[in-house]
Amino acid sequence: MQYEAVIGLEIHAQLLTDTKIFCGCSTRFGSEPNTQTCPVCAGMPGVLPVMNRKAVEYVVRTGLALNCEISLYSRFARKNYFYPDLPKGYQISQFELPLCEGGYLEIPGNGSNTKISLTRIHLEEDAGKNIHEGSASDSFVDLNRAGVPLMEIVSEPEIRTAKEATDFMKKLRTIVRYINVSDGNMEQGSLRCDANVSVRQEGTKELGVKTEIKNMNSFRFIEKALDYEIRRQIKVLQEGGRIVQETRLWNSEKGITESMRSKEEAHDYRYFPDPDLVPIVFDTSWIDDIKANMSELPDVKKERFMNEWGIAEQDADLLASERSTAEWFEETVKLGADPKAACNWIKGDFMKLLNEESIQIDESRIKPGDLVEILGLIDRGTISGKIAKTVFEEMYKTGKKAGIIVEEKGLVQMSDESGLESIIDDILVKNTDAVDKFKAGENKLMSFFVGQVMKETKGKANPKIVNEILRKKLG
Ligand SMILES: [Zn+2]
Repeated sequence: MQYEAVIGLEIHAQLLTDTKIFCGCSTRFGSEPNTQTCPVCAGMPGVLPVMNRKAVEYVVRTGLALNCEISLYSRFARKNYFYPDLPKGYQISQFELPLCEGGYLEIPGNGSNTKISLTRIHLEEDAGKNIHEGSASDSFVDLNRAGVPLMEIVSEPEIRTAKEATDFMKKLRTIVRYINVSDGNMEQGSLRCDANVSVRQEGTKELGVKTEIKNMNSFRFIEKALDYEIRRQIKVLQEGGRIVQETRLWNSEKGITESMRSKEEAHDYRYFPDPDLVPIVFDTSWIDDIKANMSELPDVKKERFMNEWGIAEQDADLLASERSTAEWFEETVKLGADPKAACNWIKGDFMKLLNEESIQIDESRIKPGDLVEILGLIDRGTISGKIAKTVFEEMYKTGKKAGIIVEEKGLVQMSDESGLESIIDDILVKNTDAVDKFKAGENKLMSFFVGQVMKETKGKANPKIVNEILRKKLG
């Protein structure tokens, strides 16, 4: 019997506002506990929330980027539950009337893209954080995170594999970073994901009993946890058992999902409209303004890199995957670089150096104009491609210009034929054995001679001219 998985995702993204959703407290990450709180986000009696306009704008921007319908009328609701990190006893969220409905996200499929439909996007506040470390008998509550604006994105159950789920998250992260609404930092929890997973016999329409896997905060964990959960459910069914509807957590140490609580204990949230907040009513002109000021999206950039500049699909994907990388690359081309040459340097030596330091391209000392300069030096034959790699590393470390490094270190390529000829003559005299063998047909010794010349000239000899002279002398 063949089984297929049915997966729907619920993603929480922390919005990049400076202040919280209903008060003026800072949203900065990593401060001392309870230093970013006030009576509103601490849930004191009698306080009133005031809507953060930027948070609403960011959700609308996301909705536009994800092809959603923006609701002209929406409302906040109270989601009631009791937990120590939620001082009000309810979370302000959205229920029947979310800010965005419908929409879709495209992920790479077999040959063409696969569209995954979205259900909705809504805005809500985050809760605080319970801390159990530091004392054997007490727990602590940090409310710095309480009231930080969160956007919840819900997909339809159209995802079929763990890989598709991971691709969905990667694409979503790229987009929220592009349009500057979230930093997508999964390690710090500003982007996290819950998944509803069930399996059914292939070809059937009816949904199986689902489990919910909570709080996955890395691409690797999402893929591993879903892979595990799908295999677990299939095994239970094959052995004649039944799936229990429950919430499960990924245990990364054991590499398994574990039951956290069953549906029987689940909450009834008693949602009702929040009487302290008025409904949100949009002018269509406000939405049009947001649309007009949006940056180009990654898929559009990728297509342009391929069609206008002849960049291979995989490379275009890589360049477009971060907005800073894409814009840096575009700048070098604007300054006169050959797109393919610039692409090769960025995806090769440059990315390697950036990854070692875990920094973004726009945080590097090398600016687009610096890459254009070194490409020119290679083009004109001033330095060899091999020397260029050394120069580039030096540029990366010191921020010096390529021309200055070449001059200071005397790295100009030797293309002067008579000079190279005398060096080559010396080498041939010192290696008569190898010369005889070469003449007897051991052609592969050519690279030995070239190597000797490079050693003698510290890599500065123009390899094209060295080859020509050697062929002439040995031919
Ligand atoms: Zn506050």
